[in-house]
Amino acid sequence: MDIFQNSEKLLLKISKDLSLKPDHFYPLSVAYIWPTKYCPVGCAHCMFASPKPRFINQNMILSEKAINNFIKMSYDAQLSYLVVSGGGEPMLELPTILKLIKEARFNYFELITGGYWTSNIHQIKRCLTKIQKAIFFKKAKQKKFSFSLRISVDRYHQKIISPKSIAHLVRIIRSDSMLPDKQRSYPDIKIYFRSLLINDDTVSKLAKLLGARLSPLKNYIRNIIFDNSSKGLNEITVFYKSMYFVGRATNLSAHKIIEFDDYFNSYSDFNDDIRLGRTYLGPMSTGALLKGLNVTVTYNGKIMPYGGVSNIYGDICKDNYKDFLNKIFHDIISRTLLLKGINYVKKFAEEVEPKLDKKIKKKNWFASIADESLSTSEIKLYVCLRLVQEDVIKGKIKVKNLPNYLIKLISHKKTSLQTEYYKYINKLKIIKRIYPNEMVQIKIKNTSIY
Ligand code: SF4
Repeated sequence: MDIFQNSEKLLLKISKDLSLKPDHFYPLSVAYIWPTKYCPVGCAHCMFASPKPRFINQNMILSEKAINNFIKMSYDAQLSYLVVSGGGEPMLELPTILKLIKEARFNYFELITGGYWTSNIHQIKRCLTKIQKAIFFKKAKQKKFSFSLRISVDRYHQKIISPKSIAHLVRIIRSDSMLPDKQRSYPDIKIYFRSLLINDDTVSKLAKLLGARLSPLKNYIRNIIFDNSSKGLNEITVFYKSMYFVGRATNLSAHKIIEFDDYFNSYSDFNDDIRLGRTYLGPMSTGALLKGLNVTVTYNGKIMPYGGVSNIYGDICKDNYKDFLNKIFHDIISRTLLLKGINYVKKFAEEVEPKLDKKIKKKNWFASIADESLSTSEIKLYVCLRLVQEDVIKGKIKVKNLPNYLIKLISHKKTSLQTEYYKYINKLKIIKRIYPNEMVQIKIKNTSIY
């Protein structure tokens, strides 16, 4: 019998029979939430390919039920960092942002925006006033927390959003910061920029527009410094990302300032490994291991560990936090990614796919590492069996508790599993090679397009 013939079904069966549970309660350290898939900017490099909101499909916007359940989950999961971001421009869903500020649990709130809403001074003031009002509401219930606006400033965004607009926003926040405390309109809104470490003079242009200077780059950070000794905002931090965004960009061979390996390792934890779902990759992060989890909640209501296995996720509309933890720790691959890291899992995948590193580097994006390493159900099954073997050797899984079919499967030697894997994969390739043109079907609707 081909071990890999029904990999998907077998994976589910193994997961059910292993019946693994979370080893303890993990709080939510960081949650990235995407209120919408839409974005009016349409950067060519957008890695989420966010469409412009011409014809609204409600399935591309986080539903009210999902938002309410997320708020509830933020308390159950003791959420610390709430980052509202995209795929998509979150400011399109300002009511969602305001609701999250007012009602969710967090100690730190960050709003990542491309800044399309800064094109008009009245609009900037209107948006800031609404955000500040929501912060006041929250402050009445919780005294200590902070709020930041993180604006993307680079040559991609500024093709569409004029640096002049961003400069308006800075001037408004800066003038406000110079007023006596009681007269301030936006006392709790801090801003900083995110840029890309490439040959890009956007930040310099912005500094020039503001009549400010730039400090030298140190540790991926530089400051826009205003020569003013007034009480207000005199420095704005610019945090640089190390690499080019590839996303939809066509120039995949674009030279990187820093090699992927160096970037990857700069976030590694002890044992040279990295646990994306347990590491915060935001500004100033040192890649330290989080006590809890780092998750993404997407516009369609999926909740998943950041950089986890693509088919292991929860449903923010149905699951409570306990259900979600059970789902992700139930799967041996997902739990190993979280507890031991990506390199640990990748090394098993490389036993059958030795050129994985090349594929991962081409993607140039951390979060896709697990997806690339575990791109098919056959690789997942191979890795799953190897992980079970490892846990049996280490005494973490007792053979006597396993069903017979699984004992039989894991008694294969590594070389025998590899042979079975290649035998099946090669058979698949032959099947695919025989009738390629018969796989193409063109369906034409019975309507005239003229
Ligand atoms: S502003 Fe951000 S979300 Fe919008 S298209 Fe550009 S990269 Fe994508």
